[in-house]
Amino acid sequence: KVRVRFAPSPTGPLHIGGVRTALYNYLFAKKHQGDFLLRIEDTDQNRFVEGAEQYIKETLEWCGIPYDEGPGKPGNCGPYKQSDRKEIYVEHVDKLIQSNNAYYAFDTPEDLEVKRKEAEQDHTKFSYGPKNRNQLNNSLTLSAEELQTKLDNKENYVIRFKTKSSVTLSIHDEIRGFIEVDSEVLDDKVLFKSDGLPTYHLANIVDDHLMRITHVIRGEEWLPSLPLHISLYEAFGWETPKFAHLPLILKPSGKGKLSKRDGDQLGFPVFPLEWKDPKTGATSSGYREEGFFPETLVNMLALLGWNDGTEKEFFSIKELTESFELERVHKSGAKFDHEKTEWFQHHYMQEMSVSKLVQEFSIILKEKGVDVQQAYVEEVVEKIRERAAFVSEFWELSSFYFESPKEFDSKSAKKAWKNDSQEWMRALIGKLESIEDFSQTHVQSEVKEWINTQGLSFGKIMQPLRLALVGAMSGPDVFHIAACIGKEDSIYRLNYAIE
Ligand code: GLU
Repeated sequence: KVRVRFAPSPTGPLHIGGVRTALYNYLFAKKHQGDFLLRIEDTDQNRFVEGAEQYIKETLEWCGIPYDEGPGKPGNCGPYKQSDRKEIYVEHVDKLIQSNNAYYAFDTPEDLEVKRKEAEQDHTKFSYGPKNRNQLNNSLTLSAEELQTKLDNKENYVIRFKTKSSVTLSIHDEIRGFIEVDSEVLDDKVLFKSDGLPTYHLANIVDDHLMRITHVIRGEEWLPSLPLHISLYEAFGWETPKFAHLPLILKPSGKGKLSKRDGDQLGFPVFPLEWKDPKTGATSSGYREEGFFPETLVNMLALLGWNDGTEKEFFSIKELTESFELERVHKSGAKFDHEKTEWFQHHYMQEMSVSKLVQEFSIILKEKGVDVQQAYVEEVVEKIRERAAFVSEFWELSSFYFESPKEFDSKSAKKAWKNDSQEWMRALIGKLESIEDFSQTHVQSEVKEWINTQGLSFGKIMQPLRLALVGAMSGPDVFHIAACIGKEDSIYRLNYAIE
């Protein structure tokens, strides 16, 4: 059974790149009737940020990509938070020491700094590995007694992975194919730190194995760690999962990776939800608070590095779970395109259920002191949504459905209001008064017929009428507005305009 996981570290808000990783994992799992897990990788205590875990959960929920197992959703492989799994890592790193795949290293940070400096003078780079580990302060160079004494004395140590020397590792990535790596270029990475916690590498591999992960789908930045990860699986004698590294998300210019700091400069959010930094108090904007629909974000992110091989661009999450294939994920970086995101947003505005839009718009109406029937708001929303991408635009597009214009746009007035308009509007009022059935179609046919019998041009009546009802030359069909606001208010507005 396919089992995948999203394994963020709670070091801050999730960047949209992280959301895409979660999404691709989710889609892949659902396509194969598999499980999608959430695992919180919080072993690096220095980088822990208050509120980040909650942010991650809230993001997944808002986006509509729920996890099957994870914090608060127990399965057979919990706990799902690495800080709750400490003993498991101790036990496993011991196994590696027993099998001679890992060793204790007692070099202090200062010792290592000296080595680094020395290497610099020789114009080389210090790396702790097969070539020099025998000259350093570790259990490979100590006798059994010496080692025991150090451990008994509780000297600070780290545990390092013992990289194999001179082998060629052939690793496979589902998106990139085979990659060969010479183990000589690898160093002996720290697996266990002096604070008694594992590093990302160890915890990640142990958990992926114990949680029976079949496919590791994650960002390209982890590709350089893959040789180590494969070596760790080998050292444990475990079968490796399949790996797929997703392409980078690039800045709109295509120059460089889109970073967490780009949002403010580029003028669009790079976070799914608004984030308030607990330390600085600074707020970064989020898609949700900017009024985007989760459907927009999901569709946009799905296409940022993948397509289904056709020209199709609009995908609901359900369609995505049917079409998604790892083989179709691109190798090269995907340029972020905010205009396209807005275009998706406009599309989903047309697709969105009226009741949801009414619900959101009602909050704004309440703030404006407008109190009308739900059905009326529905009618208005249906009419204006095609001109909008965000609910926040609704009021400007429709205020005249709820209150009479107080001012007239001067440019429109100049264009629409002629010398004889006053006179004609008086006559029109007379006509409107005589209309019993004030429905849109009826008012329209009555007024049009009246214009014809008067031998007038259409614009002569329609333009000042629009000005009177709307206050500007914009807006939907005038007769729709007239019918909605009703006879009395229509006449009131005409009278107001005449004065
Ligand atoms: N904790 C890692 C991160 O924050 C997970 C990498 C992985 O998926 O293996 O990106």
